[in-house]
Amino acid sequence: MSPLLIAGGGIGGMALALALTRQGQSVHLLERGLEFSQEGAGIQLGPNATRRLNEWGLSDALRQCATYPDELQIHCAQYGHTLVTKNLSHQMEQRFGAPYVTLHRVDLHKLLMQAVTGNELATISTQQSFQSSRNTDEGIEVDFLNAQSQVKQTIHGSVLIGSDGVRSDVRQALLGDGPPTDTGHVAYRSLLPQKMLPKRLHSSNVHVWLGPRMHMVVYPVRGGEWLNVVLIIESLQVPASYDWSINRQSDVIYQDFKAALKGCCNRVQELVRNIEQWRSWKLVNRPAVQNPLQLARGKIALIGDAAHPMLPYLAQGAGMAIEDAHVLSQCWMNVDTQSPETKLHNYAKQRHKRVARVQKKSSQNSVIFHADGLLRHARDLSLRLLGPQLIDMPWLYAGQD
Ligand SMILES: Cc1cc2nc3c(=O)[nH]c(=O)nc-3n(C[C@H](O)[C@H](O)[C@H](O)COP(=O)(O)OP(=O)(O)OC[C@H]3O[C@@H](n4cnc5c(N)ncnc54)[C@H](O)[C@@H]3O)c2cc1C
Repeated sequence: MSPLLIAGGGIGGMALALALTRQGQSVHLLERGLEFSQEGAGIQLGPNATRRLNEWGLSDALRQCATYPDELQIHCAQYGHTLVTKNLSHQMEQRFGAPYVTLHRVDLHKLLMQAVTGNELATISTQQSFQSSRNTDEGIEVDFLNAQSQVKQTIHGSVLIGSDGVRSDVRQALLGDGPPTDTGHVAYRSLLPQKMLPKRLHSSNVHVWLGPRMHMVVYPVRGGEWLNVVLIIESLQVPASYDWSINRQSDVIYQDFKAALKGCCNRVQELVRNIEQWRSWKLVNRPAVQNPLQLARGKIALIGDAAHPMLPYLAQGAGMAIEDAHVLSQCWMNVDTQSPETKLHNYAKQRHKRVARVQKKSSQNSVIFHADGLLRHARDLSLRLLGPQLIDMPWLYAGQD
């Protein structure tokens, strides 16, 4: 049986390798990096994603590394008062059959990878960067370049799945639609042991502070011992680089933070002041997916950020990559008589509307979260009057079968 080729071993690629090998399909996953990234920050996963992790036999491993917050609290960044509180614990699990968790991206990746590497149907290669592909009578042949030795090798498989992230080369080979667009928004992220902070800044819940042209998200990871802090701002000087490490004393960050935090309440100011080291992500985006042909054509399909990059304002990028992996594996294993092209097309047909909805909602949130003036007053009033109902999203957390 010809392996299914997966280019890119992030969250989506590794989840797909696991979902397929569990069903008896061999895969060859090829990752550009020398090793799998030990970087990243915290992520939140809703029941739509944790349900799949549970099905893949990862609930015990998840319990070892995730945190299960009780509440989401949304506050006004300027005056500090709470606008709305939403239960994330038992109610959520009872309603949707799986928990809401927060965890370190590295821990999530590790638990997926450990489950994959135990399976003899999985071949994993690193330092292999996707270059190009050609259809053959039997399937597809794909050229990968070893970044260090510069040696090119051709790998044969049944189909190719591009899970190579927001700057996907597979996407360019398939759709040729150029790089994603800059949004002017920058995410500054930091992860630190809670014990390094004064006790009053510790947190066991998910907190979001909304302010004009900025918002901050704070939640615990690693069983509550570490704190993840994300400050997203509309930057004065959008950095050229996509992801880099930065010290609080640097000029860029100083100017950005000064402008963004002006007028913010003490709690927000104090937390930011207490953190020295940040990593910074330039946020890029694409228009929402319009039709299935943007997700799969012939013997190539895209999943995760390669397929549908989204702003992190709904905390669903990794969740959608996990859902993609589930649906693609179901379509692939479903009907033996279907051609590989039909199976990939079925995946795209099943996914395109849902991922487009999540992309659009994430973009809308970027306007609502950062609102100023009248829109901000209307937002705050609605949150206070309608309460958790306004931020209830059963369509999202119930997931896709
Ligand atoms: C500030 C911020 C906060 C976020 N918070 C959340 C959250 O709370 N919840 C959530 O669900 N999501 C969140 N996300 C989004 C989430 O991190 C991404 O959507 C998710 O990691 C995408 O997974 P992926 O597998 O598609 O891509 P990635 O994880 O980026 O993996 C892509 C992989 O492909 C490899 N690669 C690249 N090019 C090639 C090539 N040519 N050949 C071979 N390999 C290649 C890369 O090295 C990488 O390993 C957040 C993102 C940001 C920026």
